[in-house]
Amino acid sequence: QAMEDLMHTNRQLDLLNEHLARMRLLAEEAQRAKAAFVAKVSHELRTPLNMILGLTDLLLETPQVYGEALPPALLEDLRIVQRNSEYLSKLINDVLDLSQAESGRLVLHKEWVDLREEISVVVGAVQPLLEKKRLVWRVEVPSELPLVYCDRTRIRQVLLNLLSNAARYTDQGGVTIRACKQGDCVVTEVEDTGCGIPAEDLGKIFEPFYQVSTGARVAREGSGLGLSISKQIVDLHQGRLWVMSTPGVGSTFSFEIPIAPPDQRGTEARRWIREEWTWLDHREPSRLPKPPHRQRVVVYDETGSFHGLADH
Ligand code: ADP
Repeated sequence: QAMEDLMHTNRQLDLLNEHLARMRLLAEEAQRAKAAFVAKVSHELRTPLNMILGLTDLLLETPQVYGEALPPALLEDLRIVQRNSEYLSKLINDVLDLSQAESGRLVLHKEWVDLREEISVVVGAVQPLLEKKRLVWRVEVPSELPLVYCDRTRIRQVLLNLLSNAARYTDQGGVTIRACKQGDCVVTEVEDTGCGIPAEDLGKIFEPFYQVSTGARVAREGSGLGLSISKQIVDLHQGRLWVMSTPGVGSTFSFEIPIAPPDQRGTEARRWIREEWTWLDHREPSRLPKPPHRQRVVVYDETGSFHGLADH
């Protein structure tokens, strides 16, 4: 009876497995369709938007091209058009990045990168906002920081998200950026003396479109995508991104990425597997019974005289 029950359960399990495989295919298909849709829509939106941005930039930077001087009120309105188009363009790029990262289609182009250089580029980009808000900034990066094998553009994107968040959510004090080697990794920290994040929101801010909406934050423009994209990028590098924050005191966002790719150490089959996939060694020996196999004998016959025999 027990054997029969077991066989019956096994059959059920097989059926369930088949069902699961079908469902999985459907889910993967839906995910692919979503990613393709987002890519198409982003492209369709980006083309005319770039045209608007290009023309507004031209109008604002060289108004003399159009003959007479443009009235100041018109220039002011154009600046609003420019700001909003830039915001839309960033939003579209973020949505596209997130959709690609979620569907596993975000490919990293890794190379040896000097993080000191990337940090100084990013500080340069955020400097106008820091100056405008009269915030002080400090960069504490040792000169002997090793090069890191990572995707330069993507890691710059993470740094830019963290630093511009720090500048946007801080009204007094300043921002400190640190990077140091810890074991096999480099840890980068962006610390601010801003409004901080309530404990109940700390787990949610890495979710797409999540924004903390209390008190002073409502007016800050943003889409709630920066941190989720940054987390996906750091995860793809087999690193981790985390935050520590005290409301009213400040926040510290840190991320850690391995200095060298783990799969460069081995020469096994793993080197044929995509770089961004995580490789874990199978530690426990398999408990399944070994499949029966018949031994094979390979006979190498240099003279060719066995060939005739083998035909029989
Ligand atoms: P956003 O575009 O809204 O800034 P993010 O994904 O970058 O989106 O951040 C999500 C939310 O996390 C923000 O809306 C903000 O409430 C909070 N947050 C992020 N960084 C900071 C920071 N340095 N200080 C305080 N709050 C922050």
